[in-house]
Amino acid sequence: MHDRDLPRNSANFVPLSPLSFLLRAARLWGRRTAIIHGARRITYAEMLARSRRLASALAEKGVGPGDTVAVIAPNVPALLEAHYAVPGLRAVLCPINTRLDSAGIEFILRHSEAKILLADRELAPNVSRALAAMADPPHLIDIADADMPGLPALAATEYEAFLAGGDPAFSLLLPEDEWDAIGLGYTSGTTADPKGVVTHHRGAYLNATAMALEFGLTAESVYLWTLPMFHCNGWTFTWSVTLAGGAHVCLRRVDPALIFPMIAEHGVTHLCGAPVVLNMLIHAPASVRQRFERRIHIMTGGAAPPSIVIERMEALGFEVHHLYGLTETYGPATVNAWQPERDALPIAEKALFMARQGVPHPLLADMAVLDPATMTSVPADGETLGELMLRSNTVMKGYLKNPAATEAAFAGGWFHTGDLAVLHPDGYAEIKDRAKDIIISGGENISSLEVEETLFRHPAVLEAAVVAHPDEKWGEVPHAFVTLREDAGAVAAEDIIAFCRARLAHFKCPRIVTFGPLPKTSTGKIQKFSLRALARKDISA
Ligand code: ADP
Repeated sequence: MHDRDLPRNSANFVPLSPLSFLLRAARLWGRRTAIIHGARRITYAEMLARSRRLASALAEKGVGPGDTVAVIAPNVPALLEAHYAVPGLRAVLCPINTRLDSAGIEFILRHSEAKILLADRELAPNVSRALAAMADPPHLIDIADADMPGLPALAATEYEAFLAGGDPAFSLLLPEDEWDAIGLGYTSGTTADPKGVVTHHRGAYLNATAMALEFGLTAESVYLWTLPMFHCNGWTFTWSVTLAGGAHVCLRRVDPALIFPMIAEHGVTHLCGAPVVLNMLIHAPASVRQRFERRIHIMTGGAAPPSIVIERMEALGFEVHHLYGLTETYGPATVNAWQPERDALPIAEKALFMARQGVPHPLLADMAVLDPATMTSVPADGETLGELMLRSNTVMKGYLKNPAATEAAFAGGWFHTGDLAVLHPDGYAEIKDRAKDIIISGGENISSLEVEETLFRHPAVLEAAVVAHPDEKWGEVPHAFVTLREDAGAVAAEDIIAFCRARLAHFKCPRIVTFGPLPKTSTGKIQKFSLRALARKDISA
Protein backbone atom coordinates (compact mmCIF):
# COMPACT_ATOMS: atom_id res chain seq x y z
CA MET A 1 0.00 0.00 0.00
CA HIS A 2 1.26 3.44 -0.92
CA ASP A 3 -0.31 5.08 2.11
CA ARG A 4 2.74 6.65 3.66
CA ASP A 5 1.52 10.09 2.71
CA LEU A 6 -1.70 9.61 4.67
CA PRO A 7 -0.70 10.50 8.22
CA ARG A 8 -2.78 10.68 11.34
CA ASN A 9 -4.50 13.99 12.00
CA SER A 10 -7.15 15.26 14.34
CA ALA A 11 -9.89 14.42 11.82
CA ASN A 12 -8.99 10.75 11.53
CA PHE A 13 -7.44 9.94 14.89
CA VAL A 14 -9.11 10.72 18.19
CA PRO A 15 -7.72 9.28 21.43
CA LEU A 16 -9.97 6.57 22.83
CA SER A 17 -11.29 7.61 26.21
CA PRO A 18 -14.46 6.65 28.11
CA LEU A 19 -14.92 10.35 28.79
CA SER A 20 -16.39 10.54 25.28
CA PHE A 21 -19.26 8.29 26.45
CA LEU A 22 -20.58 10.99 28.77
CA LEU A 23 -20.18 13.73 26.17
CA ARG A 24 -22.27 11.67 23.76
CA ALA A 25 -24.82 10.56 26.37
CA ALA A 26 -25.47 14.18 27.35
CA ARG A 27 -25.94 15.12 23.71
CA LEU A 28 -28.23 12.20 22.93
CA TRP A 29 -30.07 11.53 26.12
CA GLY A 30 -29.75 14.85 27.94
CA ARG A 31 -33.15 14.54 29.56
CA ARG A 32 -32.97 10.86 30.40
CA THR A 33 -32.14 9.73 33.89
CA ALA A 34 -28.46 9.00 34.28
CA ILE A 35 -28.31 8.52 38.05
CA ILE A 36 -30.88 7.45 40.62
CA HIS A 37 -29.87 7.89 44.24
CA GLY A 38 -32.55 7.67 46.91
CA ALA A 39 -35.09 10.33 45.99
CA ARG A 40 -32.64 12.12 43.67
CA ARG A 41 -32.66 11.92 39.88
CA ILE A 42 -29.79 13.29 37.81
CA THR A 43 -30.20 13.50 34.03
CA TYR A 44 -27.35 12.97 31.58
CA ALA A 45 -27.26 16.72 30.89
CA GLU A 46 -26.95 17.35 34.62
CA MET A 47 -24.39 14.61 35.08
CA LEU A 48 -22.19 16.25 32.46
CA ALA A 49 -22.69 19.70 33.97
CA ARG A 50 -21.87 18.35 37.43
CA SER A 51 -18.76 16.59 36.11
CA ARG A 52 -17.65 19.83 34.45
CA ARG A 53 -18.19 21.71 37.71
CA LEU A 54 -16.22 19.11 39.63
CA ALA A 55 -13.36 19.26 37.13
CA SER A 56 -13.28 23.05 37.27
CA ALA A 57 -13.39 23.11 41.08
CA LEU A 58 -10.55 20.57 41.20
CA ALA A 59 -8.57 22.68 38.73
CA GLU A 60 -9.07 25.66 41.06
CA LYS A 61 -7.46 23.58 43.79
CA GLY A 62 -4.46 23.09 41.56
CA VAL A 63 -5.21 19.68 40.07
CA GLY A 64 -3.72 19.32 36.61
CA PRO A 65 -2.59 16.69 34.14
CA GLY A 66 -0.93 13.68 35.78
CA ASP A 67 -2.07 14.55 39.32
CA THR A 68 -3.87 11.95 41.39
CA VAL A 69 -7.32 12.55 42.82
CA ALA A 70 -8.41 9.94 45.35
CA VAL A 71 -12.00 9.18 46.31
CA ILE A 72 -13.18 7.05 49.19
CA ALA A 73 -16.93 6.59 49.14
CA PRO A 74 -19.59 3.96 48.78
CA ASN A 75 -21.55 3.89 45.51
CA VAL A 76 -22.79 7.49 45.48
CA PRO A 77 -23.11 9.98 42.59
CA ALA A 78 -19.88 11.81 43.56
CA LEU A 79 -17.77 8.74 42.83
CA LEU A 80 -19.47 8.22 39.48
CA GLU A 81 -19.01 11.88 38.53
CA ALA A 82 -15.34 11.67 39.49
CA HIS A 83 -14.98 8.94 36.84
CA TYR A 84 -15.51 11.65 34.21
CA ALA A 85 -14.34 14.85 35.89
CA VAL A 86 -10.90 13.57 36.87
CA PRO A 87 -9.99 12.02 33.50
CA GLY A 88 -11.43 15.15 31.85
CA LEU A 89 -8.73 17.13 33.66
CA ARG A 90 -6.15 14.62 32.40
CA ALA A 91 -5.63 13.69 36.01
CA VAL A 92 -5.66 10.17 37.45
CA LEU A 93 -8.53 8.76 39.49
CA CYS A 94 -7.69 6.61 42.48
CA PRO A 95 -10.79 5.09 44.09
CA ILE A 96 -10.01 3.71 47.54
CA ASN A 97 -11.59 0.64 49.06
CA THR A 98 -14.03 1.77 51.75
CA ARG A 99 -13.33 -1.25 53.93
CA LEU A 100 -9.68 -0.45 54.46
CA ASP A 101 -8.44 0.56 57.89
CA SER A 102 -6.68 3.88 58.43
CA ALA A 103 -3.22 2.40 57.80
CA GLY A 104 -4.40 0.99 54.46
CA ILE A 105 -5.88 4.34 53.45
CA GLU A 106 -2.75 6.17 54.53
CA PHE A 107 -0.54 3.78 52.52
CA ILE A 108 -2.51 4.47 49.35
CA LEU A 109 -2.66 8.23 49.87
CA ARG A 110 1.12 8.35 50.31
CA HIS A 111 1.98 5.91 47.54
CA SER A 112 -0.38 7.52 45.01
CA GLU A 113 0.70 11.04 46.05
CA ALA A 114 -2.95 12.06 45.92
CA LYS A 115 -3.42 15.84 45.85
CA ILE A 116 -7.10 15.76 46.77
CA LEU A 117 -9.22 13.29 48.64
CA LEU A 118 -13.00 13.25 48.28
CA ALA A 119 -14.32 11.29 51.25
CA ASP A 120 -17.75 10.21 52.32
CA ARG A 121 -18.69 11.34 55.83
CA GLU A 122 -19.57 7.84 56.86
CA LEU A 123 -15.88 6.93 56.66
CA ALA A 124 -14.79 9.85 58.85
CA PRO A 125 -13.05 7.87 61.63
CA ASN A 126 -10.59 6.00 59.38
CA VAL A 127 -10.11 8.89 56.98
CA SER A 128 -9.37 11.36 59.77
CA ARG A 129 -6.90 8.97 61.37
CA ALA A 130 -5.13 8.37 58.05
CA LEU A 131 -4.84 12.09 57.33
CA ALA A 132 -3.70 12.91 60.86
CA ALA A 133 -0.75 10.55 60.39
CA MET A 134 0.47 12.41 57.30
CA ALA A 135 2.77 15.44 57.35
CA ASP A 136 1.43 16.67 54.02
CA PRO A 137 -2.07 15.23 53.68
CA PRO A 138 -4.17 15.74 50.54
CA HIS A 139 -6.78 18.49 50.52
CA LEU A 140 -10.02 17.00 51.81
CA ILE A 141 -13.53 17.41 50.37
CA ASP A 142 -16.41 16.11 52.44
CA ILE A 143 -19.19 14.12 50.75
CA ALA A 144 -22.47 14.39 52.63
CA ASP A 145 -25.49 12.34 51.70
CA ALA A 146 -29.17 13.03 52.29
CA ASP A 147 -29.53 9.30 52.92
CA MET A 148 -27.18 9.55 55.89
CA PRO A 149 -28.43 12.57 57.84
CA GLY A 150 -26.92 13.65 61.11
CA LEU A 151 -23.28 12.74 60.44
CA PRO A 152 -20.81 15.45 61.43
CA ALA A 153 -18.91 17.28 58.69
CA LEU A 154 -15.54 15.83 57.79
CA ALA A 155 -13.97 18.92 56.21
CA ALA A 156 -14.69 22.59 55.65
CA THR A 157 -15.89 22.12 52.08
CA GLU A 158 -18.80 19.85 51.30
CA TYR A 159 -19.02 18.22 47.84
CA GLU A 160 -22.19 20.00 46.69
CA ALA A 161 -20.80 23.39 47.76
CA PHE A 162 -17.55 22.50 45.99
CA LEU A 163 -19.54 21.76 42.80
CA ALA A 164 -21.55 24.94 43.18
CA GLY A 165 -18.29 26.90 43.01
CA GLY A 166 -17.30 25.12 39.78
CA ASP A 167 -18.04 26.12 36.20
CA PRO A 168 -20.75 24.04 34.43
CA ALA A 169 -19.27 25.06 31.04
CA PHE A 170 -15.71 23.99 31.89
CA SER A 171 -14.17 21.95 29.06
CA LEU A 172 -13.47 18.32 29.79
CA LEU A 173 -10.51 17.32 27.67
CA LEU A 174 -9.78 14.03 26.02
CA PRO A 175 -6.27 12.81 26.83
CA GLU A 176 -3.39 13.94 24.68
CA ASP A 177 -2.49 10.32 24.22
CA GLU A 178 -4.90 7.43 24.79
CA TRP A 179 -2.04 5.59 26.52
CA ASP A 180 -2.07 8.25 29.28
CA ALA A 181 -3.06 7.03 32.72
CA ILE A 182 -6.73 7.27 33.63
CA GLY A 183 -6.78 5.33 36.86
CA LEU A 184 -4.84 3.90 39.70
CA GLY A 185 -6.36 0.93 41.51
CA TYR A 186 -4.77 -0.94 44.37
CA THR A 187 -4.85 -4.73 44.67
CA SER A 188 -6.07 -5.89 48.04
CA GLY A 189 -2.55 -6.84 49.14
CA THR A 190 -3.29 -10.22 50.57
CA THR A 191 0.38 -11.20 50.56
CA ALA A 192 2.39 -7.96 50.61
CA ASP A 193 1.85 -4.24 50.36
CA PRO A 194 -0.89 -3.51 47.83
CA LYS A 195 0.32 -2.83 44.31
CA GLY A 196 -0.87 0.26 42.44
CA VAL A 197 -2.24 -0.82 39.07
CA VAL A 198 -2.02 1.95 36.47
CA THR A 199 -4.65 1.80 33.73
CA HIS A 200 -4.99 3.94 30.62
CA HIS A 201 -7.80 5.67 28.70
CA ARG A 202 -7.60 3.29 25.77
CA GLY A 203 -7.93 0.17 27.93
CA ALA A 204 -10.80 1.65 29.94
CA TYR A 205 -12.61 2.58 26.71
CA LEU A 206 -12.17 -0.90 25.27
CA ASN A 207 -13.04 -2.83 28.41
CA ALA A 208 -16.15 -0.75 29.08
CA THR A 209 -17.23 -1.20 25.46
CA ALA A 210 -16.71 -4.95 25.70
CA MET A 211 -18.92 -5.13 28.79
CA ALA A 212 -21.72 -3.12 27.16
CA LEU A 213 -21.55 -5.36 24.11
CA GLU A 214 -21.31 -8.64 25.97
CA PHE A 215 -24.22 -7.92 28.29
CA GLY A 216 -26.42 -6.09 25.82
CA LEU A 217 -26.63 -2.79 27.67
CA THR A 218 -28.95 -0.29 25.99
CA ALA A 219 -30.58 3.02 26.82
CA GLU A 220 -33.36 0.97 28.43
CA SER A 221 -30.95 -0.77 30.81
CA VAL A 222 -31.18 -0.06 34.51
CA TYR A 223 -28.00 -0.99 36.31
CA LEU A 224 -27.99 -1.49 40.08
CA TRP A 225 -24.71 -0.68 41.80
CA THR A 226 -24.26 -3.75 44.00
CA LEU A 227 -20.58 -4.00 43.00
CA PRO A 228 -18.32 -1.39 44.60
CA MET A 229 -17.31 1.30 42.12
CA PHE A 230 -13.93 1.35 43.85
CA HIS A 231 -13.28 -2.22 42.71
CA CYS A 232 -11.67 -1.93 39.24
CA ASN A 233 -13.92 1.06 38.51
CA GLY A 234 -16.88 -1.21 39.10
CA TRP A 235 -15.47 -3.66 36.52
CA THR A 236 -15.64 -0.67 34.10
CA PHE A 237 -19.45 -0.49 34.32
CA THR A 238 -19.02 3.08 35.62
CA TRP A 239 -18.36 3.80 31.94
CA SER A 240 -20.27 0.99 30.16
CA VAL A 241 -23.68 2.05 31.47
CA THR A 242 -23.05 5.63 30.35
CA LEU A 243 -21.92 4.42 26.92
CA ALA A 244 -25.28 2.70 26.54
CA GLY A 245 -27.23 5.62 28.03
CA GLY A 246 -28.74 3.37 30.72
CA ALA A 247 -29.52 4.44 34.27
CA HIS A 248 -27.06 4.02 37.15
CA VAL A 249 -28.91 3.14 40.35
CA CYS A 250 -26.65 3.99 43.29
CA LEU A 251 -26.60 1.88 46.41
CA ARG A 252 -24.60 2.62 49.56
CA ARG A 253 -24.80 -0.80 51.14
CA VAL A 254 -25.12 -4.36 49.85
CA ASP A 255 -28.14 -5.57 51.73
CA PRO A 256 -30.74 -7.96 50.29
CA ALA A 257 -33.44 -6.06 52.19
CA LEU A 258 -32.60 -3.06 49.98
CA ILE A 259 -31.65 -4.90 46.80
CA PHE A 260 -34.84 -6.89 46.15
CA PRO A 261 -37.21 -3.92 46.53
CA MET A 262 -34.92 -1.70 44.45
CA ILE A 263 -34.88 -4.24 41.63
CA ALA A 264 -38.68 -4.17 41.67
CA GLU A 265 -39.07 -0.41 42.08
CA HIS A 266 -36.61 0.73 39.42
CA GLY A 267 -37.03 -2.13 36.96
CA VAL A 268 -33.38 -3.13 37.31
CA THR A 269 -32.12 -5.15 34.33
CA HIS A 270 -28.45 -5.67 35.22
CA LEU A 271 -26.25 -5.94 38.30
CA CYS A 272 -22.85 -7.34 39.23
CA GLY A 273 -21.55 -8.97 42.36
CA ALA A 274 -18.96 -11.34 43.75
CA PRO A 275 -20.23 -14.86 44.48
CA VAL A 276 -20.63 -13.87 48.16
CA VAL A 277 -23.24 -11.34 47.09
CA LEU A 278 -25.13 -14.00 45.13
CA ASN A 279 -24.99 -16.25 48.15
CA MET A 280 -26.36 -13.43 50.27
CA LEU A 281 -29.32 -13.00 47.92
CA ILE A 282 -29.97 -16.74 47.85
CA HIS A 283 -29.94 -17.03 51.62
CA ALA A 284 -31.88 -13.84 52.30
CA PRO A 285 -34.85 -14.36 54.62
CA ALA A 286 -38.01 -15.46 52.81
CA SER A 287 -39.69 -12.21 53.87
CA VAL A 288 -37.13 -10.27 51.82
CA ARG A 289 -36.47 -12.56 48.88
CA GLN A 290 -38.46 -12.00 45.70
CA ARG A 291 -38.70 -13.96 42.51
CA PHE A 292 -38.97 -11.85 39.37
CA GLU A 293 -40.80 -12.93 36.26
CA ARG A 294 -38.68 -10.79 33.95
CA ARG A 295 -35.05 -11.54 33.12
CA ILE A 296 -32.49 -9.90 35.33
CA HIS A 297 -28.88 -10.29 34.32
CA ILE A 298 -26.38 -10.74 37.11
CA MET A 299 -22.70 -10.80 36.30
CA THR A 300 -20.53 -12.56 38.86
CA GLY A 301 -16.80 -13.00 39.27
CA GLY A 302 -13.89 -11.83 41.37
CA ALA A 303 -13.77 -15.31 42.89
CA ALA A 304 -14.93 -18.66 41.59
CA PRO A 305 -18.71 -19.06 41.88
CA PRO A 306 -19.54 -22.61 43.05
CA SER A 307 -21.91 -24.17 40.50
CA ILE A 308 -24.59 -24.67 43.15
CA VAL A 309 -24.63 -20.90 43.71
CA ILE A 310 -25.20 -20.36 39.97
CA GLU A 311 -27.90 -23.01 39.99
CA ARG A 312 -29.78 -21.52 42.94
CA MET A 313 -29.48 -18.02 41.54
CA GLU A 314 -30.98 -19.15 38.23
CA ALA A 315 -33.76 -20.83 40.18
CA LEU A 316 -34.50 -17.42 41.72
CA GLY A 317 -35.09 -16.12 38.20
CA PHE A 318 -31.74 -14.40 37.56
CA GLU A 319 -29.73 -14.98 34.43
CA VAL A 320 -26.20 -15.54 35.68
CA HIS A 321 -23.11 -14.60 33.66
CA HIS A 322 -19.66 -15.57 34.83
CA LEU A 323 -16.69 -13.24 34.45
CA TYR A 324 -13.07 -13.62 35.41
CA GLY A 325 -10.37 -11.03 35.69
CA LEU A 326 -8.06 -9.02 37.87
CA THR A 327 -7.40 -5.42 38.80
CA GLU A 328 -4.57 -5.62 36.25
CA THR A 329 -7.10 -6.31 33.45
CA TYR A 330 -9.59 -3.54 34.32
CA GLY A 331 -11.66 -6.25 36.02
CA PRO A 332 -13.35 -8.64 33.58
CA ALA A 333 -11.07 -10.30 31.02
CA THR A 334 -12.82 -13.56 30.22
CA VAL A 335 -16.47 -14.50 30.08
CA ASN A 336 -18.26 -17.78 30.08
CA ALA A 337 -19.82 -17.07 26.70
CA TRP A 338 -23.02 -19.05 26.35
CA GLN A 339 -23.41 -21.72 23.67
CA PRO A 340 -27.00 -22.44 22.59
CA GLU A 341 -26.53 -26.22 22.59
CA ARG A 342 -26.12 -26.05 26.35
CA ASP A 343 -29.72 -24.84 26.69
CA ALA A 344 -31.02 -28.40 26.61
CA LEU A 345 -28.80 -29.53 29.50
CA PRO A 346 -30.23 -30.12 32.96
CA ILE A 347 -29.65 -27.07 35.16
CA ALA A 348 -26.99 -28.76 37.31
CA GLU A 349 -24.89 -29.59 34.23
CA LYS A 350 -25.45 -26.14 32.80
CA ALA A 351 -24.22 -24.63 36.03
CA LEU A 352 -21.07 -26.76 35.89
CA PHE A 353 -20.30 -25.32 32.45
CA MET A 354 -21.03 -21.85 33.68
CA ALA A 355 -18.62 -22.24 36.54
CA ARG A 356 -15.76 -22.30 34.01
CA GLN A 357 -14.00 -19.00 33.57
CA GLY A 358 -14.38 -19.17 29.81
CA VAL A 359 -13.01 -17.39 26.82
CA PRO A 360 -11.71 -13.88 26.06
CA HIS A 361 -14.34 -11.13 26.21
CA PRO A 362 -15.08 -9.50 22.84
CA LEU A 363 -12.16 -7.07 23.04
CA LEU A 364 -9.57 -9.10 24.93
CA ALA A 365 -6.84 -9.81 22.41
CA ASP A 366 -5.68 -13.24 23.56
CA MET A 367 -5.75 -15.80 26.34
CA ALA A 368 -3.60 -18.89 26.79
CA VAL A 369 -2.87 -21.54 29.38
CA LEU A 370 0.91 -21.89 29.38
CA ASP A 371 3.58 -23.75 31.25
CA PRO A 372 5.26 -20.73 32.89
CA ALA A 373 8.70 -22.40 32.76
CA THR A 374 8.69 -22.95 29.00
CA MET A 375 5.91 -20.55 27.93
CA THR A 376 4.41 -23.30 25.78
CA SER A 377 0.70 -24.15 25.67
CA VAL A 378 -0.65 -26.99 27.73
CA PRO A 379 -2.80 -29.46 25.77
CA ALA A 380 -6.52 -28.58 25.66
CA ASP A 381 -7.41 -31.76 27.53
CA GLY A 382 -9.25 -30.33 30.53
CA GLU A 383 -6.60 -31.84 32.79
CA THR A 384 -3.13 -30.42 32.33
CA LEU A 385 -2.54 -27.53 34.67
CA GLY A 386 -0.84 -24.36 33.44
CA GLU A 387 -0.88 -20.67 34.23
CA LEU A 388 -3.58 -18.55 32.67
CA MET A 389 -1.93 -15.76 30.69
CA LEU A 390 -3.44 -12.79 28.92
CA ARG A 391 -2.37 -10.31 26.28
CA SER A 392 -4.54 -7.36 25.47
CA ASN A 393 -5.04 -3.63 25.09
CA THR A 394 -7.05 -4.15 28.26
CA VAL A 395 -4.04 -5.11 30.37
CA MET A 396 -2.66 -2.45 32.74
CA LYS A 397 0.30 -0.20 31.93
CA GLY A 398 2.12 -1.61 34.93
CA TYR A 399 2.50 -1.23 38.68
CA LEU A 400 3.23 2.27 39.99
CA LYS A 401 6.79 2.66 41.32
CA ASN A 402 7.37 -1.08 41.15
CA PRO A 403 9.48 -2.00 38.09
CA ALA A 404 10.41 -5.43 39.45
CA ALA A 405 6.78 -6.51 39.87
CA THR A 406 5.89 -5.01 36.48
CA GLU A 407 8.67 -6.88 34.75
CA ALA A 408 7.71 -10.16 36.43
CA ALA A 409 4.04 -9.70 35.51
CA PHE A 410 4.91 -9.26 31.81
CA ALA A 411 7.73 -11.82 31.51
CA GLY A 412 7.81 -13.54 28.13
CA GLY A 413 5.38 -11.12 26.51
CA TRP A 414 2.27 -12.26 28.38
CA PHE A 415 0.56 -10.98 31.49
CA HIS A 416 0.92 -13.66 34.16
CA THR A 417 -2.29 -13.91 36.16
CA GLY A 418 -0.93 -16.21 38.87
CA ASP A 419 -4.00 -18.39 38.38
CA LEU A 420 -3.65 -22.08 37.58
CA ALA A 421 -6.05 -23.34 34.96
CA VAL A 422 -6.83 -26.12 32.53
CA LEU A 423 -7.99 -25.64 28.97
CA HIS A 424 -10.96 -27.71 27.89
CA PRO A 425 -11.16 -29.14 24.35
CA ASP A 426 -13.84 -26.52 23.53
CA GLY A 427 -11.33 -23.74 24.27
CA TYR A 428 -12.87 -22.71 27.59
CA ALA A 429 -10.45 -22.21 30.47
CA GLU A 430 -11.25 -23.37 33.97
CA ILE A 431 -9.35 -22.08 36.95
CA LYS A 432 -8.36 -24.67 39.47
CA ASP A 433 -6.65 -22.41 41.95
CA ARG A 434 -4.54 -19.42 42.55
CA ALA A 435 -0.94 -20.61 42.33
CA LYS A 436 -0.50 -19.90 46.03
CA ASP A 437 -3.70 -21.69 47.07
CA ILE A 438 -3.18 -25.05 45.41
CA ILE A 439 -2.77 -27.94 47.85
CA ILE A 440 -0.08 -30.51 47.14
CA SER A 441 -0.72 -33.79 48.89
CA GLY A 442 1.60 -36.76 48.37
CA GLY A 443 2.82 -35.09 45.18
CA GLU A 444 -0.72 -34.73 43.76
CA ASN A 445 -2.33 -31.35 43.11
CA ILE A 446 -5.64 -30.76 44.83
CA SER A 447 -7.70 -27.86 43.61
CA SER A 448 -9.14 -26.10 46.63
CA LEU A 449 -11.93 -24.83 44.36
CA GLU A 450 -12.96 -28.37 43.48
CA VAL A 451 -13.26 -29.35 47.14
CA GLU A 452 -15.17 -26.13 47.89
CA GLU A 453 -17.48 -26.85 44.96
CA THR A 454 -18.46 -30.10 46.71
CA LEU A 455 -18.75 -28.55 50.17
CA PHE A 456 -21.14 -25.88 48.88
CA ARG A 457 -23.49 -28.69 47.80
CA HIS A 458 -23.92 -29.90 51.39
CA PRO A 459 -27.37 -28.70 52.43
CA ALA A 460 -26.15 -27.35 55.78
CA VAL A 461 -23.23 -25.36 54.34
CA LEU A 462 -23.50 -21.61 53.83
CA GLU A 463 -19.87 -20.94 52.89
CA ALA A 464 -16.67 -22.93 52.73
CA ALA A 465 -12.97 -22.47 52.05
CA VAL A 466 -10.28 -25.10 51.80
CA VAL A 467 -6.58 -24.53 52.43
CA ALA A 468 -3.43 -26.60 52.84
CA HIS A 469 -2.81 -28.06 56.27
CA PRO A 470 0.79 -29.15 56.89
CA ASP A 471 1.03 -32.90 57.28
CA GLU A 472 4.06 -34.99 58.15
CA LYS A 473 3.18 -37.88 55.90
CA TRP A 474 1.55 -36.17 52.88
CA GLY A 475 3.23 -32.77 52.99
CA GLU A 476 -0.18 -31.08 52.89
CA VAL A 477 -3.75 -32.22 53.34
CA PRO A 478 -6.97 -30.26 52.74
CA HIS A 479 -8.37 -28.38 55.72
CA ALA A 480 -11.94 -27.15 55.32
CA PHE A 481 -13.27 -24.08 57.08
CA VAL A 482 -17.04 -24.12 56.99
CA THR A 483 -19.82 -21.72 57.95
CA LEU A 484 -23.10 -23.52 58.51
CA ARG A 485 -26.50 -22.12 57.68
CA GLU A 486 -28.34 -20.67 60.64
CA ASP A 487 -31.00 -23.35 60.43
CA ALA A 488 -28.49 -26.18 59.96
CA GLY A 489 -28.91 -28.02 63.26
CA ALA A 490 -26.08 -30.24 64.51
CA VAL A 491 -23.48 -31.15 61.90
CA ALA A 492 -20.19 -32.84 62.80
CA ALA A 493 -16.86 -32.73 60.98
CA GLU A 494 -17.31 -36.43 60.21
CA ASP A 495 -20.58 -35.68 58.37
CA ILE A 496 -18.85 -33.14 56.17
CA ILE A 497 -15.94 -35.49 55.47
CA ALA A 498 -18.29 -38.39 54.67
CA PHE A 499 -20.25 -36.13 52.29
CA CYS A 500 -17.03 -35.32 50.43
CA ARG A 501 -15.84 -38.93 50.38
CA ALA A 502 -19.06 -39.93 48.63
CA ARG A 503 -18.34 -37.42 45.88
CA LEU A 504 -14.59 -36.87 45.56
CA ALA A 505 -11.44 -38.94 45.28
CA HIS A 506 -10.48 -39.70 48.87
CA PHE A 507 -7.13 -37.92 48.77
CA LYS A 508 -8.99 -34.71 47.90
CA CYS A 509 -11.32 -34.86 50.89
CA PRO A 510 -10.74 -32.57 53.85
CA ARG A 511 -8.99 -34.27 56.74
CA ILE A 512 -9.81 -31.49 59.16
CA VAL A 513 -12.97 -29.42 59.35
CA THR A 514 -13.25 -26.23 61.39
CA PHE A 515 -16.64 -24.56 61.83
CA GLY A 516 -17.14 -20.82 62.19
CA PRO A 517 -17.31 -17.53 60.29
CA LEU A 518 -14.80 -17.02 57.47
CA PRO A 519 -12.47 -14.01 57.41
CA LYS A 520 -13.06 -11.87 54.30
CA THR A 521 -10.82 -9.41 52.48
CA SER A 522 -11.94 -5.87 51.95
CA THR A 523 -13.40 -6.94 48.60
CA GLY A 524 -15.42 -9.75 50.14
CA LYS A 525 -13.06 -12.59 49.20
CA ILE A 526 -12.27 -15.26 51.71
CA GLN A 527 -8.86 -14.62 53.25
CA LYS A 528 -7.15 -17.90 52.57
CA PHE A 529 -3.85 -16.65 53.89
CA SER A 530 -5.26 -16.19 57.37
CA LEU A 531 -6.96 -19.58 57.20
CA ARG A 532 -3.61 -21.07 56.20
CA ALA A 533 -2.05 -19.40 59.21
CA LEU A 534 -4.75 -20.94 61.40
CA ALA A 535 -4.12 -24.34 59.84
CA ARG A 536 -0.38 -24.00 60.52
CA LYS A 537 -1.00 -22.91 64.09
CA ASP A 538 -3.22 -25.88 64.54
CA ILE A 539 -0.36 -28.24 63.82
CA SER A 540 2.20 -26.46 65.96
CA ALA A 541 -0.24 -26.36 68.90
P1 ADP B 1 -6.73 -9.41 44.64
O1 ADP B 1 -5.64 -10.11 43.87
O2 ADP B 1 -6.24 -8.39 45.53
O3 ADP B 1 -7.77 -10.34 45.21
P2 ADP B 1 -8.24 -8.87 42.27
O4 ADP B 1 -9.59 -8.37 42.42
O5 ADP B 1 -7.42 -8.31 41.18
O6 ADP B 1 -7.52 -8.56 43.59
O7 ADP B 1 -8.32 -10.43 42.17
C1 ADP B 1 -8.06 -11.14 41.01
C2 ADP B 1 -8.06 -12.60 41.33
O8 ADP B 1 -9.36 -13.03 41.73
C3 ADP B 1 -7.72 -13.48 40.16
O9 ADP B 1 -6.32 -13.58 39.99
C4 ADP B 1 -8.37 -14.79 40.56
O10 ADP B 1 -7.54 -15.53 41.42
C5 ADP B 1 -9.59 -14.36 41.31
N1 ADP B 1 -10.77 -14.39 40.43
C6 ADP B 1 -11.38 -13.37 39.83
N2 ADP B 1 -12.44 -13.78 39.13
C7 ADP B 1 -12.51 -15.12 39.28
C8 ADP B 1 -13.38 -16.12 38.79
N3 ADP B 1 -14.41 -15.84 38.02
N4 ADP B 1 -13.11 -17.40 39.14
C9 ADP B 1 -12.06 -17.70 39.92
N5 ADP B 1 -11.22 -16.80 40.42
C10 ADP B 1 -11.43 -15.52 40.11
